[in-house]
Amino acid sequence: MEQNKSLPSYDLGDSEMLVEDCVQVSVGEVLNEYKKQLKQQLLSSVFEVDGVSVKLNTTRTNFGGSRHWFVCPSCSKRKGKLLRTPEGEIGCNSCLEVSYQSTRYKGMVETAL
Ligand SMILES: [Zn+2]
Repeated sequence: MEQNKSLPSYDLGDSEMLVEDCVQVSVGEVLNEYKKQLKQQLLSSVFEVDGVSVKLNTTRTNFGGSRHWFVCPSCSKRKGKLLRTPEGEIGCNSCLEVSYQSTRYKGMVETAL
C-alpha cells in the first residue's frame, strides 16, 4: 500500500487514516485468483504433444475437487496417461496395444533399443 501514489497524503493530525478504512488486498488472495484463472485457461486449451493435439477433460470428484484427464486422440476416452511409441504414435495403452512389462526392467529395455 505504501507504493500506491493515488492515496492522498494526509497529515497526522485529525484526519489519520486507518487500515480499517482501506480495502486490503493480500498477495495470497490475488495469487489464488490468478491461479484459478490460469488453471481454467490451461484446462480449456489443447496441448500439442509431438505435433498431435491432445485435449484435457475435467471430472468432479465426490469431495468437491476435480480430476484432470487427457482425452486419448485415438479413442477419445479419458486417460490419466498417454503413451508415445518409438514411431511417434500417441494414444492410450489400449489404442496402441501395448502392455506393461515389469516396470523395473522398462528403463533397461528402452536404453537397449
Ligand atoms: Zn485410446
